[in-house]
Amino acid sequence: MSAQNQAPVRMPGLRVLTVLRTAQVTPRMRRITLGGDEIAGFGTGPNIKVLIPPPGDPDPQWPTVGPDGRKVWPPEDRRPAIRTYTARRYDEAAGELDVDFVLHGDHGVASRWAAQARPGDVLGIAGPGGRVHADADWYAVAGDHTALPAIGKIVEELPEHARGHVLVEIPDAGEIQDLKPPPGVELRWIMRDGAEAGTTTLLADAVRELPWPTDLPGDRIFAWVAGESSAVRAIRTHVRDERGLNRRRYLAIGYWKHGMNETSYHDEHDNDRDEDYYKAGQEEQAERTTAAS
Ligand SMILES: Cc1cc2nc3c(=O)[nH]c(=O)nc-3n(C[C@H](O)[C@H](O)[C@H](O)COP(=O)(O)OP(=O)(O)OC[C@H]3O[C@@H](n4cnc5c(N)ncnc54)[C@H](O)[C@@H]3O)c2cc1C
Repeated sequence: MSAQNQAPVRMPGLRVLTVLRTAQVTPRMRRITLGGDEIAGFGTGPNIKVLIPPPGDPDPQWPTVGPDGRKVWPPEDRRPAIRTYTARRYDEAAGELDVDFVLHGDHGVASRWAAQARPGDVLGIAGPGGRVHADADWYAVAGDHTALPAIGKIVEELPEHARGHVLVEIPDAGEIQDLKPPPGVELRWIMRDGAEAGTTTLLADAVRELPWPTDLPGDRIFAWVAGESSAVRAIRTHVRDERGLNRRRYLAIGYWKHGMNETSYHDEHDNDRDEDYYKAGQEEQAERTTAAS
């Protein structure tokens, strides 16, 4: 068969998964449980890319790889939208992946998709990947509603001896989830109570007011921060410049930016990742390579 007649090869690493079931975790957080044949071998890691086909497309199209090895995207009107989410739970034995979507309104492609998702719908998933929190004795974990799936996972993974604080900004008390941090970690819900997401300094103010430990060296402290761009930037400046944490002792990523869709935020601001983010990632990778050799 000539190369021209061969079926296009789907982009490597992209799985097409099927919605198995949906559940309303809270009024504005919807859990989509995905599965299907292609879930086998899904690895560990915090973040995934979701590829959302245009609404109502009876035959969703996916990116492929051309003969020259380059990605080929479906035409504009059939092209899936790409967004970033958290692998909240992967159960290898059951072949299930949970992704929790904030329902922030119809103006978001992903939010709209999640609100309407039904068993049998398909979603493209790439990943998982991304950096995670490092080992520490004292943690400051701060994030907004979009970070709650990641924070839920982090809280489950914190060592029993951990001390520190988890701060979560949510719209109102209806969004509180049943998280169980270790006894030395205090969990605080910060309610916006009517204020629009991404317009307050509540989370950054709460981090600034945290009682910081005086009995630990900086290399036993870790700050994990995610949420709206302006809050993440303010908190990163605080933990780095005022609390003196070096780049290996904090992880701060903008999850979204007020007034901007994710494609633009990623393309124009790289989710507020800075040079130190990449340097720290390279150092972590070098240590893993050394440890494995
Ligand atoms: C590593 C990573 C992990 C993430 N994990 C999760 C997760 O597990 N669950 C989750 O819900 N989100 C998560 N997010 C955030 C999510 O990717 C963004 O909220 C994304 O913009 C949602 O896409 P959308 O298509 O719904 O809205 P977009 O089309 O991207 O944006 C449309 C409009 O909605 C606004 N907007 C976007 N998100 C919100 C929001 N939460 N509240 C109010 N307005 C908003 C934008 O500013 C824009 O004006 C994560 C982001 C990153 C980078």
